[in-house]
Amino acid sequence: MIPAQFEYVAPKTLEEALRLVERHGDEAKILAGGHSLLPLMKLRLAQPRYVIDIGRLHNMNYIREENGYIAIGPLTTHAEIESSTLLRTKCPLLPETAAVIGDVQVRNRGTLGGSLAHADPAADYPAAALALDMEIIAASTAGARTIPVREFFLDMLTTALRPGEILSQVRVGPRAPHTGTAYEKLHQPASGFAIVGVAVKLVLGSGGTVDDVAIGVTGLGPKAFRATAVERALRGKKVTEKLFEDAAHDAAQGIEPLSDLHASAEYRREMAVVHTRRALKRAFARAQGKA
Ligand SMILES: Cc1cc2nc3c(=O)[nH]c(=O)nc-3n(C[C@H](O)[C@H](O)[C@H](O)COP(=O)(O)OP(=O)(O)OC[C@H]3O[C@@H](n4cnc5c(N)ncnc54)[C@H](O)[C@@H]3O)c2cc1C
Repeated sequence: MIPAQFEYVAPKTLEEALRLVERHGDEAKILAGGHSLLPLMKLRLAQPRYVIDIGRLHNMNYIREENGYIAIGPLTTHAEIESSTLLRTKCPLLPETAAVIGDVQVRNRGTLGGSLAHADPAADYPAAALALDMEIIAASTAGARTIPVREFFLDMLTTALRPGEILSQVRVGPRAPHTGTAYEKLHQPASGFAIVGVAVKLVLGSGGTVDDVAIGVTGLGPKAFRATAVERALRGKKVTEKLFEDAAHDAAQGIEPLSDLHASAEYRREMAVVHTRRALKRAFARAQGKA
C-alpha cells in the first residue's frame, strides 16, 4: 500500500499550476483533498510522475454570489458546503448532498472540484450538479471555458476536462420561486458511497402543476445522468401521488445498471425507482413550503 515514487510540486498560484499541468501532461496528477487520488496511488492504479498539489491555492476556496449566480471554488470542502449559510438559504440541495458524503474526515478533506473531476459513478455531487444544471469552468494557460454539466460527465471516471485544464469554478444559477429540491440516497454502509442517489429540483406552476423538473441520478450506471423519461412524464402535469408513482418507474430507462458485490443490477434499478419517488415527494412538499 505504498505509492510508486513521484515528484511533489506545490504551486502558489493557479497560473503556476496551469503551466505545470501543461508542461507535464499525462505524467502529472492534480492533488486536491487526496481522498480519491491517494487511495488509487497506494493501490498503484495511478502512478503519476508528478503530483501537483493545488491545496495551497487558498483563493480557490470560496462560496459567493457573483453576477446573479452562486460561484463555488473547486477547493471548497464538503464540510464547508454542508455548513454554508448562503447555500442553505439559496441552494439547499448542495448542503443536503454534502452532508451525506462519507464520514466527517472525508467531508473535512474532500473537495467539490475533486469529486466532480474524479467522476466516480457512485459519487453524490454529480446527481445534484445535474439537477441544478450547474456550469463548470475549466481553466488552462489559453484561458477559461464553460462546460454545461450535462456535457461534463462522459463515462466512468471520465469528464470533458481536457489535458492541461484545471476545474477552476462551479456555478449555480438563481432559484425560481416555488422551487423544491431533495436528495435521496441508498448508501453503501462501509464507505457511504451511493448505491443509488437521486437529486430532484421541482418547480411548481399555478394550480399545482409541474412547471419544470430536473432529476440527476448517480450510482446506477457508469456515469451520473438526467432521468429524462421521468422528467418528460411530469412536465406540465398536475401533481398527484399517482403521477409520481407512475413517472418514477422510468427512472432507469435506457440505462444498463451496474452490478457488483454491493448490489445487483435488478436491485439498483428498483432502488432508483423507490428513491426517485421519495425525492419527488420531498421536493414537492418543499416547493409548497411544507418541509
Ligand atoms: C472512505 C471514503 C468514503 C467516501 N465516501 C464518499 C461518499 O459517500 N460520496 C462521495 O461522493 N464521495 C465519497 N468519497 C470520495 C470523496 O468525496 C473525495 O474527496 C472526492 O471524490 C475527491 O475529492 P478530493 O478533493 O479528495 O480529490 P482528489 O482525491 O485530490 O482528486 C481526485 C481526482 O480529481 C482530480 N482533481 C482534483 N481537483 C481537480 C481540479 N480542481 N481540476 C481538475 N482535476 C482535479 C485529481 O487529479 C484526481 O484525479 C469517499 C472517499 C473515501 C476515502
